[in-house]
Amino acid sequence: QTQALLEKQREIDSSAVAYPEDIPIAFEDGKGATVRDADGNTYIDLFAGIGVLNVGHANPYVLEAVHEQADKFVHTVDFPTEARLELIEKLDEIAPDGLQGQNKVVFGGPTGSDAIEASIKLAKYNTGGDGLIAFRGAYHGATTGAMSVTSNKAFKERYTPLLPDVVHAPYPDPFRQDKSPDEAVNHALEEVQAIVEDPYGGLANPAGIIVEPIQGEGGIVTPPEGFLQGLRDIADDNDVVLVFDEIQSGLGRTGKWWASDWEGVAPDAMTSAKALGGVGFPLSATMYHEDLDTWGSGDHAGTYRGHVVGMRAGIRAIEYIQDHDLLAHARDLGEYIRGRLREAAAETDRLADVRGKGLFIGAEFIDTDGHPDGDLVDAIQQYCFERGVLVWTAGRHGNVLRLLPPLVLTHELAETALDIIVAVIEELTA
Ligand code: PMP
Repeated sequence: QTQALLEKQREIDSSAVAYPEDIPIAFEDGKGATVRDADGNTYIDLFAGIGVLNVGHANPYVLEAVHEQADKFVHTVDFPTEARLELIEKLDEIAPDGLQGQNKVVFGGPTGSDAIEASIKLAKYNTGGDGLIAFRGAYHGATTGAMSVTSNKAFKERYTPLLPDVVHAPYPDPFRQDKSPDEAVNHALEEVQAIVEDPYGGLANPAGIIVEPIQGEGGIVTPPEGFLQGLRDIADDNDVVLVFDEIQSGLGRTGKWWASDWEGVAPDAMTSAKALGGVGFPLSATMYHEDLDTWGSGDHAGTYRGHVVGMRAGIRAIEYIQDHDLLAHARDLGEYIRGRLREAAAETDRLADVRGKGLFIGAEFIDTDGHPDGDLVDAIQQYCFERGVLVWTAGRHGNVLRLLPPLVLTHELAETALDIIVAVIEELTA
């Protein structure tokens, strides 16, 4: 059954479909942190639709509200609905200190990329600036503006010219830069400062700084304390808008509502998507401080600004995380998983760094010469798949094993999964 579906997809679907060749799976159904394929095989899912299913597959508490809402109506653009207003209130309740109580939300479209486009427009609209500072290793999406602030050439070189006046500063990465945490932060901040101050650095008139508080696609690169506060200070001193992209890192993934909560720094604007649609509905939001609420009616347009079912799902998902104390659970389980990976790292030089926060976890692999080893991580992914665990990869060289399990993953299932992952690492690095 699985093979037939995969073959049919190869025959009729776009050549742009993307999943690793070495994990051929056709999904049949999912529950919590497990999925079943079309042949009835069960897998522990540490991938969660690229960090979307924070409350698990087919979460019954969320689905109850989905069914109720779907029977009434699904789409109203911007016309008021209870779901829309409740979600705005819920997002304010969990907004970082500094936005809370003064938080506005624009639903600019269904995808994360839409939220990024809205944040770029918001920064330009409010400052009159035209330039943007982003970071090396960043991923912000697939639309033209979002590609422009993304750094990896592989995603964008065939689509130039993109937005002009985007400069990428170094992102603090103590492991790869071989720097101490303080050195890595200072190095990045000095570059940002120079770009803001010096028009010859490429930006005559910066509008915004856009940054992932922890880089996802870039390899779960986790900047040391001080980076976000440093950016906050530069943004304040120069009247530029500070945007945190929390599309992958937000909504409980790191064991706090937002990855930036770990440092206690509030942005001027913040993007959310992925887990926002509860059980996988496409829904995104750009949250921003009310001081930036200067748009006139219709200044940021779009048809899909009110997926009411997705909004209902989003409210329920946030409630579910609150009611089950899943932030604390994500913190504890993340510590356990990183601990197991660090034990494995002690046994081999090939596993060079284990990092992340909560259930946003990366493990970086190198070859015997110390170079990034994407082939090894591909093999780990394939072996884990064959033994019933779905894991993902990240990083420019694909050499970071990325774990993004649903926050509802139980300790027991995590232990089973880690037994398998650690055994695979041992086998492939022996
Ligand atoms: N920003 C970040 C940090 C992301 O991880 C992603 C998706 N991986 C996006 C933006 C783009 O979101 P989407 O794919 O929904 O457009």
